Amino acid sequence: MPSILAVILLTIIAGGTGSVKLVRGFKDANVICNVGDNIWLYGLYICPDIDTIIYGLAGILDKERGWGIKDDTFNSLKQLQMLGLDTWFRIGDKDLATHLLRTEMLREGKKLYAITKFISNKFGIEAEIIPASEDEIETSILTEQGLIHLQEFWVKHKGELDVKGIIYKNIGKAEATSRVIDVMSNSDAIIIAPGNPVTSINPVISIEGINRIMQRMRDKVIAISPIIGEEAVSGPAAKYMRALGYQVSPYGIAKFYAKYISKLVIDESDASYIDAIEDEFGIKVYTTDIMMRDEKDEHRLADFIKSVI
Ligand code: GDP
Repeated sequence: MPSILAVILLTIIAGGTGSVKLVRGFKDANVICNVGDNIWLYGLYICPDIDTIIYGLAGILDKERGWGIKDDTFNSLKQLQMLGLDTWFRIGDKDLATHLLRTEMLREGKKLYAITKFISNKFGIEAEIIPASEDEIETSILTEQGLIHLQEFWVKHKGELDVKGIIYKNIGKAEATSRVIDVMSNSDAIIIAPGNPVTSINPVISIEGINRIMQRMRDKVIAISPIIGEEAVSGPAAKYMRALGYQVSPYGIAKFYAKYISKLVIDESDASYIDAIEDEFGIKVYTTDIMMRDEKDEHRLADFIKSVI
């Protein structure tokens, strides 16, 4: 247990819309961000999870949509549509500037880590946002129409196709950056945000270097369940978990993360799962209200996590 006077270094492993709420609650924790959602579209390199975290910490995220910049307009997109482009992935006019800058910097040979840091600084963000890898990893969903990019499955097809499997293209070759390894190794606690376990967290913790550290540091890793009762709080997590053969419940989450975590925070309404999780997986379970409806909830949950790590 670190002494109260010591500076405590916290690292959050994060995806986008669910994760950003907890990241906001902590504000200054390091964030290791999923890159499996990244996609080349309209000639631009788009990093949906990194941008959601940046906009969330900068206080400009459109919270209702869970992505993009609030009060943004969509004139460029409408123009692209008029010119005949299939604009199934929506990008706002202000948001577009982020993707243009990132793509330009990538073309100049800059690394995604440096670009993310540059953009974060411009938005006045203190927390360090670290892409899990510099290598392109692509989370793809196997459907009856074949293998399609996660964004295409979720945005273009509205998540309606049956899921037969999930594939992380290039994950076997992807390397964690030295910064990721450094930050994780020096952390007093690693927090798995209540992100989508299959498409946000798994593409991060399956990268070999990260996977090894997670298992080695299991006693310092805590996860927050994205599932309450038998449903995801939002999004397609339940569909993906079912497709991979996991029960959709806090028990299923515990099983999914059992190799990596020693602590799990579940909702207070789910206390009936405690014994099974603790007995079967050797994971200490904590219960509290894990729904983050507003900023007060985000800070309350972050404070609760600080009190149990
Ligand atoms: P994505 O990349 O946009 O899918 O975003 P994330 O993976 O970060 O977050 C999606 C997950 O967050 C979903 O599985 C939700 O169930 C979960 N989630 C969203 N809001 C909340 C919340 O307030 N509390 C908890 N515990 N989970 C949440």
